[in-house]
Amino acid sequence: MANGVINVAVLGSTGSIGRSTLDVIAASRGRLRPFGLTANSRLEEALRQAWHVRPRWLVATDPHLARQFAWGDLPPETELLVGDEGVERLVADPEVDIVVAAMVGMAGLRGTWAAVRASKRVALANKEALVAAGPLMMDLARQNGATILPVDSEHSAIFQALQAGNRQQVRRLVLTASGGPFRRHSAEQMAAVTVEQALAHPTWAMGKKITIDSATMMNKALEIIEARWLFDVPADQIAVVVHPQSIVHSMVEFCDGCVMAQLSPPDMKLPIQYALSFPERWTGPALQFDWSHMMELDFYPPDPQRFPALSLGHEAARLGGTAGAVLSAANEAAVALFLEGDLRFTEIVPACRSVLQQHTFEVHPSLEQLLRLDAWARQEVSKWICA
Ligand code: NAD
Ligand code: MG
Repeated sequence: MANGVINVAVLGSTGSIGRSTLDVIAASRGRLRPFGLTANSRLEEALRQAWHVRPRWLVATDPHLARQFAWGDLPPETELLVGDEGVERLVADPEVDIVVAAMVGMAGLRGTWAAVRASKRVALANKEALVAAGPLMMDLARQNGATILPVDSEHSAIFQALQAGNRQQVRRLVLTASGGPFRRHSAEQMAAVTVEQALAHPTWAMGKKITIDSATMMNKALEIIEARWLFDVPADQIAVVVHPQSIVHSMVEFCDGCVMAQLSPPDMKLPIQYALSFPERWTGPALQFDWSHMMELDFYPPDPQRFPALSLGHEAARLGGTAGAVLSAANEAAVALFLEGDLRFTEIVPACRSVLQQHTFEVHPSLEQLLRLDAWARQEVSKWICA
């Protein structure tokens, strides 16, 4: 850290979390500096961002798209890098203090892995990387003295609530879930859901993949697995409760019955900023409550019949090993097929279950094994394409 300024690399700067991160940096009154940006397909926006924030590095992660793009002028202080090697060079730059991992899906694994290996503080939004490779990633962090701080709002809430006690005193983590757009839908209604309906989330504006994951509640399944590794808590001590207002972002129940919750309006800028400012708190751009209006908070148990993804999440968290990687990869492929109109909404979770059950389970896989299974799971899901 030079002159007290924190250099931030934003992996996935053109996405929903990436753009909010740039807002947080802009509002930090010089405490944070955007040192590097990466983008995959929206290169025009990436170039605009580069002119706006003048980073040291700009990485175009897809070499093919990077070659085709008419770059024109880059800001004089910015150098262009390409591909996974470019991301690895950016995160390992000794001048980078914090890496915000905000790419979507397993494609984020290499950059996140490289940042952890380079002993950085990693502000982790890319939950799929931890779901797939949790034990390996946490070991790598321990070996290299890297810190992984959650950006996911539920995990940020738990991270904050945990500070009220010690780990031996924790009885349960309670993840809240909005329930998505179909929380009141019957099984019949759910079978007829369109892509457009599934993309209309009631409380959060997010990228497409996580929005579909919220509608199936696979997002919560992935979050159970994420919490299992991030906080080293067994799967059966992680509960889910539906809370449609998305005001209580999650809770920690302690052994004496005390429940610590973290509340704030649904705005990712707060958990993003906390992962950057920790252990400090700063004034910032996140939304604040207006206490002059009445506010109701509802909580109720999820329906495991209509949302079968949740039990898959618990199962994969209990199994560990290769289960998270297979579930996450199958889901990514199934969501992509649904978005293309090639798979029905209600087939996403059965496809994932089938692939999870078929795979050859391994308790202590290597990273290479996980990557091979990732490719295999995607292939298996393609057999579900509707005729
Ligand atoms: P998004 O689709 O809006 O953005 C994704 C970003 O990843 C883009 O910058 C894109 O360039 C990059 N990207 C896409 N494919 C890539 C590839 N193959 N290689 C490298 N980079 C690639 O997604 P998002 O909603 O910002 O979500 C990002 C991550 O944060 C996801 O893992 C998601 O689960 C997590 N998350 C998001 C939210 C939210 O509110 N959006 C909340 C919690 C967690
Ligand atoms: Mg979340």
